[in-house]
Amino acid sequence: MSGEASLRTFHGIGVSAGTAVGPLVVVTPAPKPPADEPATTDAAAASATVHAVLEQVASGLEARAAAASDHARPILEAGAMMARDPGLAMGIDTQLGKGLGITTAVTAAVEEYCAMFESLGGYMAERVTDLRDVRDRAVARLLGQPEPGVPTLSVPSVLAAHDLAPAETATLTAETCLGIVTEAGGPTSHTAILAAQLGIPAIVQAVGILEVAAGTVVAIDGGVGEITVDPSDEEIELLAERKRRRAAALAGGTGKGSTKDGYPVALLANIGTADDARKAAAQPVEGVGLFRTEFLFLDRDTMPTVEEQTATYTEVFTAFGDRRVVVRTLDAGADKPLKFADLGPEENPALGRRGLRLGMIRTDVMDTQLQALANAYQATGADVRVMAPMVATQAEATWFAERVRALGLPKVGVMIEVPAAAIRSRGILYHVDFASLGTNDLQQYTMAADRMQGELAALLNPWEPALLDVVALACDGGQAMGKPIGVCGEAGGDPALALVLAGLGVSSLSMAPGKVPAVRTSLSLHTREQCQQMAAAARAAVDAAGARAAVLAMADPVLLDLI
Ligand code: PEP
Ligand code: MG
Repeated sequence: MSGEASLRTFHGIGVSAGTAVGPLVVVTPAPKPPADEPATTDAAAASATVHAVLEQVASGLEARAAAASDHARPILEAGAMMARDPGLAMGIDTQLGKGLGITTAVTAAVEEYCAMFESLGGYMAERVTDLRDVRDRAVARLLGQPEPGVPTLSVPSVLAAHDLAPAETATLTAETCLGIVTEAGGPTSHTAILAAQLGIPAIVQAVGILEVAAGTVVAIDGGVGEITVDPSDEEIELLAERKRRRAAALAGGTGKGSTKDGYPVALLANIGTADDARKAAAQPVEGVGLFRTEFLFLDRDTMPTVEEQTATYTEVFTAFGDRRVVVRTLDAGADKPLKFADLGPEENPALGRRGLRLGMIRTDVMDTQLQALANAYQATGADVRVMAPMVATQAEATWFAERVRALGLPKVGVMIEVPAAAIRSRGILYHVDFASLGTNDLQQYTMAADRMQGELAALLNPWEPALLDVVALACDGGQAMGKPIGVCGEAGGDPALALVLAGLGVSSLSMAPGKVPAVRTSLSLHTREQCQQMAAAARAAVDAAGARAAVLAMADPVLLDLI
């Protein structure tokens, strides 16, 4: 906060709105085994040391798991299991027996284990990240250094990292983590999604953040993506003023979503667990627009039984009473592999047998889930709507709709996240009751840019006019068929982009519950006609930046306090 220190402001991409001021805590990087490590002469003693350290790592992960959220617990528990794997301990003993230095032996044994896991592909290959995490923790302890990763935040802080794995993000809470700033990462990565879900302001692609010394006070604005290093009292006051204006703009609105002139746009929550459902149900949202059911089963070795699934779905439906709950059937594969529904390695998993394609092969998995949904519907009489992920053709839509209807489930829909489905939405909607635009995947496939690859963030900007054109095509089909189309990708949670989407004709927007108030206020400030004019201006722009600038120039000035 000193006035003399060099004032530096730099930018990244804001992915979760809100402001914060606090000391920077840097995520500890992984340790490197020393190149000149002495050889092991007493293998038995070294083995005992390593085994003790692995046990410390396992108990540490277990302790964090006990205090973690539903999202984080299974991932931390899986790490603890890896640390206690007798095969890994034996592999390390073998390397120590050859005389390798203690951390070199751990590294060599883990790499051998990783190579084996990678050759098995699918879920096992994904576990390599957990194994290397265990390695880094064990090596750090052997070197007398702190374990790498997110440290325990004893005072509320802003966290800086090169990138954060979803597992790390899921362990954070808004009480101690005031904000997240990463050098890498993209706006639709699952880490960005989780930060918004947790209500933590976040900025990705902030190149240079790791050059800022730990402990330095930073001020961040997760809406506009701005970071001020060592801010002056004046700058802190400006940010506080912005926070107050934002709070004032948001105050009071808790009703149903609609434009200024009453065009309804339902405001819904994205959830991944029963815990999310309980929290979201307490918020003024009109229901759930996307229940990502695969998040329930990421850690499962075996398929959950009908009974288990029925219990979870019943819990979620009950939490929402008579409000709608749109459930997506398992979207397994690609970046969300499920061990019990793994079809083996693929060259291009994002273009492979994922989503509904996998469900059509593993009909046992699909039918078990649908039966459980039908049971929970019977038990609760809730407003349940079931949709399939990654639908590309009419044949797929028909296949799914027949199965859902055969079980007596009242409403069936599809996600539109493949350009083919957007272009031909009319035909697809003929077979189902509704559609929901998954703009995250729709963008990755429209731009041929991997959503997990932060370096491609410029191509993954949801203001991209090409994406808006594809969304418009899908909405035209919806209008022609008289069937509702919503949005459940991250685009729907941007209060400015929400206006464009409303202008294109979507009937609902689903997002992290924390984003709903800003979108509600934004809609209430503009008429439907203004939204349509903004949509036209955004589509007429040359690029994403031009589209956003055109809309902000047309909007009510209060909108600037909401982003
Ligand atoms: C999407 O693709 O926009 C979507 C909502 O699904 P997910 O992010 O889970 O792939
Ligand atoms: Mg998707």
